[in-house]
Amino acid sequence: MNQHIPVEPVPFIDIGAQRRRLGKSIDEAVARVLAHCQFINGPEVTQLEALLAEFSGAKHVVSCASGTDALLMALMANGIGRGDAVFCPSFTFCATGESVALTGATPVFVDVDETTFNMDAASLERGIATAKKRGLTPKAVIPVDLFGQSADHDAIGAVAAAEGLFVLDDAAQGFGASYKGRRLGTFGRVTATSFFPAKPLGCFGDGGAIFTDDAELAATLRSIRVHGQGSDKYDNVRLGITGRLDTMQAAILIEKLKIFEDEIAARNKVAERYARGLGNVVTVPQVAAGCTSVWAQYTIRLPKGTDRDGFAAALKVQGIPTAIYYPKSMHQQTAYRDFPVADGGLPVSERLSSDVISLPMHAYLDEPAQERVIRAVRGALGA
Ligand SMILES: *Cc1c(COP(=O)(O)O)cnc(C)c1O
Repeated sequence: MNQHIPVEPVPFIDIGAQRRRLGKSIDEAVARVLAHCQFINGPEVTQLEALLAEFSGAKHVVSCASGTDALLMALMANGIGRGDAVFCPSFTFCATGESVALTGATPVFVDVDETTFNMDAASLERGIATAKKRGLTPKAVIPVDLFGQSADHDAIGAVAAAEGLFVLDDAAQGFGASYKGRRLGTFGRVTATSFFPAKPLGCFGDGGAIFTDDAELAATLRSIRVHGQGSDKYDNVRLGITGRLDTMQAAILIEKLKIFEDEIAARNKVAERYARGLGNVVTVPQVAAGCTSVWAQYTIRLPKGTDRDGFAAALKVQGIPTAIYYPKSMHQQTAYRDFPVADGGLPVSERLSSDVISLPMHAYLDEPAQERVIRAVRGALGA
């Protein structure tokens, strides 16, 4: 009987397929760096920054070593530290709140919207009240463009303006997405992104970038990136870090940026097929009016009462990998549970952490492979 014919697992993300598509262009870009040997601050770094500025519409782009450094440097450049409150969604990757805590400031966790998974402006207002009651000074808010979809920047921006907070957009998952016709990178005072390989625009190692329209802030970021150097190289004028993007990664990103638009379109096709195939059995992600997504993740919510581990196991035996982003919201994690949460608690973040699961998503997920995922999901739910 041949009911156990092994089938190739569907890749969760497929960096190999992209590598094959880019082939020689990446080999040649890397070879050029190996030939000129300017591994730090090589010409590709400035070239990439100019291309990213053009792509996003931001006036200044400062590349850096990771998305976490991008957030940390943006907070440092704005003088964030002890006694300051910085508001973050709790349902996010840990680096959002971690960067705040690293400066000595207090991350104050706020809730997210049940349909977009992004920061809820009403909870942000409650969080600001919580911070003030605790004697903290509200300074900044970090909306996250989670799973690739832009946050509601108008709603967050209005609360921030009323309270005198500056906005640091964490676009680590959303770079390439837009809000009301404008690409991310131009919302708030400063935007941070990551080029970790699994992000929609990833390099072949760690990398990140910071976007701003403020020339003075950009200059401060460039100083922080190299240990706070001043115009005299041997007189450091502020604290900084080793925060540079290396030339090899910049050269790789220049090649990947050329196909990024095309990949975003392909990811959107994949998302449409999922919505058609699964929309009547699970809660599929919704893109809010005026927003676009780059689909860093395709995250569904399982029907009430579904055994999530059992569901994941049923998919796994059929060669369908899944992942849970995020099984614990930040305020539920050991390192962060003592930080304040907005008054009223974070019930949506907690519900999402208990019922979300992410399916394979990448630009190279073809129709037959995706049919397998859809059939497996429906089968596991008895639908
Ligand atoms: C990945 C990620 C980061 C951190 O990026 P790194 O490059 O891994 O440091 C920050 N915020 C969010 C929301 C992320 O998904």
